[in-house]
Amino acid sequence: MPDAVVIGGGFGGLAAAIRLQSQGIQTTLLEKRDRLGGRAYVYQQDGYTFDAGPTVITDPACIDELFALSGRRLSDYATLLPIEPFYRLLWEDGVRFDYGNDQMALERQIAALSPPDVEGYRRFLAYSQAVFEEGYRRLGHVAFLSPWDMVKAAPQLARLGAWRSVHAMVSRFVREEHLRQALSFHTLLVGGSPFASSAIYALIHALERQGGVWFPRGGTGALVAGLARLFADLGGSIRLSEPVAEIATEAERVTGVLTGRGERITADIVISNGDVMHTYGALLRRHPRGAAMARRLDRRRFSMSLFVVYFGLRRQHPGLAHHSILFGPEYRGLIDAIRDARPLREDFSLYLHAPGATDDSLAPPGRSGFYALAPVPNLAQQIDWKAAGPGYADRILAALERRVLPGLRDDLDTLRIFTPEDFRVELNAHLGSAFSLEPILTQSAWFRVHNRDAVLRNLYFVGAGTHPGAGVPGVIGSAKATARLIAEDLRAGLAA
Ligand SMILES: Cc1cc2nc3c(=O)[nH]c(=O)nc-3n(C[C@H](O)[C@H](O)[C@H](O)COP(=O)(O)OP(=O)(O)OC[C@H]3O[C@@H](n4cnc5c(N)ncnc54)[C@H](O)[C@@H]3O)c2cc1C
Repeated sequence: MPDAVVIGGGFGGLAAAIRLQSQGIQTTLLEKRDRLGGRAYVYQQDGYTFDAGPTVITDPACIDELFALSGRRLSDYATLLPIEPFYRLLWEDGVRFDYGNDQMALERQIAALSPPDVEGYRRFLAYSQAVFEEGYRRLGHVAFLSPWDMVKAAPQLARLGAWRSVHAMVSRFVREEHLRQALSFHTLLVGGSPFASSAIYALIHALERQGGVWFPRGGTGALVAGLARLFADLGGSIRLSEPVAEIATEAERVTGVLTGRGERITADIVISNGDVMHTYGALLRRHPRGAAMARRLDRRRFSMSLFVVYFGLRRQHPGLAHHSILFGPEYRGLIDAIRDARPLREDFSLYLHAPGATDDSLAPPGRSGFYALAPVPNLAQQIDWKAAGPGYADRILAALERRVLPGLRDDLDTLRIFTPEDFRVELNAHLGSAFSLEPILTQSAWFRVHNRDAVLRNLYFVGAGTHPGAGVPGVIGSAKATARLIAEDLRAGLAA
């Protein structure tokens, strides 16, 4: 059997490594940082455990599948706890909406805001389910390598109104603006604006309604640890604090990687889970293909970035939901400004993670850990985050104190921040983007970086920058598409 190297240990890299190792391909995963997880890194600080990134775990079946490949069970490696309501949505004008999986409760709340929208919501749910079947179940896990793949999918995408934005599509079903925001904000979870991302992303609504929203006991880091243990049990090898400096090539094939320490590791197959611009522009800088693709990617739109404040409080706030979204006063104007990388604004919309609502093991007894995340422009807007960061964090904490966490600043026990500059430095993210290429129709499927390079035929991609895109189920799906491609290439004698 051939052997493989995976560059990067995010969810996508881990899922690809597990799939390859399960196929009998000896796989080595090289991770730049001292821990696995990538965006799902974990910070341990002053007795608190802070999940750095993903906290909304959806489509548990795609995780189960990684274990089932080798006859194992997820439940032997990690425990997923159900979250209900999925999210609590809060607006400045006092409107509150608990969005979850209870149809009656949903309809009751919709009726309280706008009675005719109950029927509209039912129709939207049916639409979302149709998009889910087509966009996720049928097309989400297959690589788009030729324009014909796109042409074949086009009639169905057109039928589903893929050219409209999610917000515009939702607006065809419901009239009330809070409800329109409630049913379209999900694109923000994958770095897209509800006002610009394709209506295809309405599938996230059905994904959540069908598969639920989950949180791993011990935090998302515990799920990452479970996947790492599975990979090790399968005989895979993980090397941490091992940045790859270069992908080695010979003519139109890759032959392995060169580590930052100067070690050469040969491999028949290389899969990059690193940022797509970093992979082409830096790791393949000596190959003409690298420069050509970097130039092409430079013309693409990279998604927004995020500013994250992790903090611990000396008391608990038992009334909070696990996930809260705090919509700002000028939601659309704010999102448009962020998307276009215009200067930082005074107002913000926030996501608040309160894991203590589900699992009290993540903070010292009697205390509570949180993170708050604000979408911000990527580094196309030059902001000196070292200077601006602490003040921006203070403003976020003040807003949280006013809206949901009374007494926050008096109770503050510990604090750390993560800025767009950290995305760039820590994760090699182009422009400090939190989600890689922006999820818009003209950058989706065949228009995204392909799961296999078109010239270097044994170089593959997994993760947010390739098809289908960002989000935990997205990048796990990309690993499925890529692993399937590798299996086909091996059968055809192409990969090794
Ligand atoms: C704050 C935040 C919150 C989020 N919340 C959610 C959520 O609730 N639910 C959800 O589904 N999604 C969420 N997302 C999106 C989701 O986390 C990401 O899309 C997904 O985790 C990205 O996975 P990935 O496989 O692309 O790899 P990444 O997580 O980007 O990992 C790539 C890895 O490659 C490593 N690497 C890079 N270059 C090199 C190199 N040269 N050599 C070796 N290693 C290298 C990096 O260090 C990193 O570990 C969130 C994202 C963020 C940032």
